[in-house]
Formats: sequence, C-alpha cells, structure tokens
Amino acid sequence: MVRTLTGRELAASLRAEVAARVEAGPQPRLAVVVATADEASLWYVRSIAKAAAGVGITCDLVDLGPDAETERIRQTLARLSADDAVHGVMLQTPLPAGASLQDLAGAIDPAKDVDGANPLSLGRLAAGLPAFAPATAAAVLALLDHYGVELSGARAVVVGRSTVVGKPLAHLLLDRHATVTVCHSRTRDLAAVTSTAEVLVAAVGRAGLIGAEHVAPGAVVIDVGTNPTEDGGLVGDVDFDAVAGRAAALTPVPGGVGPVTTALLLSHTARAAGLR
Ligand code: NAP
Repeated sequence: MVRTLTGRELAASLRAEVAARVEAGPQPRLAVVVATADEASLWYVRSIAKAAAGVGITCDLVDLGPDAETERIRQTLARLSADDAVHGVMLQTPLPAGASLQDLAGAIDPAKDVDGANPLSLGRLAAGLPAFAPATAAAVLALLDHYGVELSGARAVVVGRSTVVGKPLAHLLLDRHATVTVCHSRTRDLAAVTSTAEVLVAAVGRAGLIGAEHVAPGAVVIDVGTNPTEDGGLVGDVDFDAVAGRAAALTPVPGGVGPVTTALLLSHTARAAGLR
C-alpha cells in the first residue's frame, strides 16, 4: 500500500512555528509584486496574503498590472529592497511578454529574496553558502525530512531543470549527500533514468508525464507539478493511480508540496526580518 505524503500537517506546524516567532519580535512585512492578469497566479498571491495574515505577517500585494513595463517592475523591486520597513520581496510569475524573472529578480536584495529568485541566491546555494532557496525547492526537502526519508547516499532523480525548482533542488539534495541526476526535455529514455531513483521528484508541468514505468518499486515520489484540469481542478505530473501501485510513498496534488511552499515562504520572511 502506498503511503500518501500530505503536506497539510507539516504546513500547519511550520505556520505555528512562524506565528510563535512573529509574536516574539517586530512584525515582518512581505511585499509580493504582481504584473499579470492570470487568474491562477492572482489566486496564489491572495492565498499567500491570507496565510501571512494568519501568522501575523503583513503582506502587501503590489499590483502593477499585466501591461507593466520591465523598467517599472525593476524599479519597484529596487525600491522595496531599499525600504527598511519591508523584510521580504517576491516577484510573482507569469510576467508581461519580454520580461524575465531571472533578469528582474537581480533587483531584489538577496537578504530579502525570500523566494530565492535572484541569480545570486542560486549561485550561493550552488556554492554551499547561506542563501534563501526558492520556497518550492525547500518544500520538497522539508517534506522528505518530515517523513524521515534518508537522503545520504540515496539515488535521487529530479525531472525538470528550471531555476525556480529543478536546479536549486538538485543543489539542496547534493548538500544532503544524495547522488543526484537531473532530467529535462532532451533526456533520452526518461523512464530508464527515473526508474533508477530511490527518490524521484517531478517538476515539469505536464499532467501524467510520470507513469508506473518511470518508477522503481519502493521509490519515494514527490510531485511538484500543478496542472489545471478542464473542470477547474488541479493535477500533478505523476499519474497518481498508476504510480501508487509501485511507489512506497507519493505526494498528492493538491495538498502535497503546495501548502508547504507557502508556509516556507512565510518562514523565510520571518528569517529575513531577523526572527529565528
Ligand atoms: P518550467 O520552468 O516550465 O520548467 C519545466 C522543466 O521541465 C524544464 O526543465 C523542461 O526541460 C522540463 N520538461 C519539459 N517537458 C519535459 C519532458 N517531456 N520530459 C522531461 N522534462 C521535461 O516549470 P517550473 O517553473 O519549474 O514548474 C514546474 C512545475 O511545477 C509546474 O507544473 C509548476 O506549476 C509547478 N510548480 C509548483 C509549485 C508548488 O508550490 N507546488 C511551485 C512552482 C512550480 P527543458 O529545460 O529542457 O525545457
């Protein structure tokens, strides 16, 4: 029987920890810069604001509109980074055509880069130096730790090499002494590689990409993917029913990585405000 690795209890305990830290110190402030009309994205930032309020963090949604010019976004990030009253700064995607997260996130002070988007943060992470990891990548590690999955020496395969999930996660897993392989769209015979994994992470954005043939018997499978369905629901990259017959443990979508991601964003904000 597969073990379902839900994220809700872990997220609740992380939020409770943050609330206790916030109670003991000055109120942290998170600024989320938005330049999109994408409904799913706007729903996500509103859910961050709600979760922040629940732990005593002030969250400002700085909505520049879907037609915002790149320079205006950059200047806004620089202004918020220079504002002593703001402790965390995050730029939500998608961005207007022509704007790139990696380019713009360079304007976020690394000390306030609570979602690890500044390339300097990824560089520090790769170098094994203290830095904020993207909350999603950190959430995968937090879930593995929460459920006691041994990483030292484990064969880990990450499918996806984006700078927000795949690459930082590969560095986090390496730091924990896993033997890490990263797959992407040019990987030949994906199933041959992924089926060697003791820990398999899917971070692609393609519903059902990972089937039973991609998974070794007894593997731990973490599904980062979030793919909207026609009926307004959400599914991951992993075909849950097919993989449940082979994996030892599997995260659900929704209710797996997602809630932990939001809780860690708040935890990072408290840390950026000096609350440990
Ligand atoms: P992304 O920037 O689009 O990157 C997708 C990665 O998947 C790329 O590296 C791409 O390879 C690879 N890929 C595409 N097709 C593939 C295939 N057929 N086989 C193997 N690899 C393939 O996406 P992202 O921002 O990393 O997000 C990935 C997923 O995670 C999305 O569903 C997103 O919604 C979700 N997400 C969830 C959370 C959460 O909190 N739960 C947070 C962030 C993202 P190339 O590099 O070769 O193009």
